[in-house]
Amino acid sequence: MRIYDVSMLIHHDMEVYKNKNEKKPVLTFLKTFPQDGYNESSILMDIHTGTHIDAPFHMINQGDTIEKINLENLITTCYVLDMTFCSGKITKDDLLKKKIRAQSFILLKTGNSYESEFNSEFVYLDSSGAAYLSSLSLKGIGIDGLGIERAQKNHDTHHILMEKNIIIIEGLRLEEVDEGEYKMIALPLKIKGADGAPARIVLIKE
Ligand SMILES: [Zn+2]
Repeated sequence: MRIYDVSMLIHHDMEVYKNKNEKKPVLTFLKTFPQDGYNESSILMDIHTGTHIDAPFHMINQGDTIEKINLENLITTCYVLDMTFCSGKITKDDLLKKKIRAQSFILLKTGNSYESEFNSEFVYLDSSGAAYLSSLSLKGIGIDGLGIERAQKNHDTHHILMEKNIIIIEGLRLEEVDEGEYKMIALPLKIKGADGAPARIVLIKE
């Protein structure tokens, strides 16, 4: 059995969306050795920084918040698809080159996994790809960009997927993971009323 940790390391200088300073995590030590006899810290970070899961509430005001996502859809078999041949975006035509089972959970591996700095031209899933995947009633879709879309006026990709309750994972690190089937364990923090949550995500190859 091999365990792949496909989560980003959280730290102040990590890559964040559009390099925005306010999205950089801040770890503050409230207590430290030697004066306090122990270390204790607090963290301030944007929910969409690092590897995280978007709740439908992120884009749909009546949508479910993160604590309502069913864990049965997050501890599941998943399929990593090697989409590294795509540049800029992943379209329906690109996805048609792969065999994708209805109602499965897929993770899209792109060139994003090989970059450690924010790239404003990161590879995303465009609305044609989102509509195709939504027609397959997938459980969820993960991608290795900090967003599943960019450069689409009305956040079409998010809306198309969230309206069908398809879970969205963003910020995966899939460099070491080959195309194929894995068991995934993805656990977002249980934050009441939130539009998403950071998650530690592992893939297991038996
Ligand atoms: Zn997000």
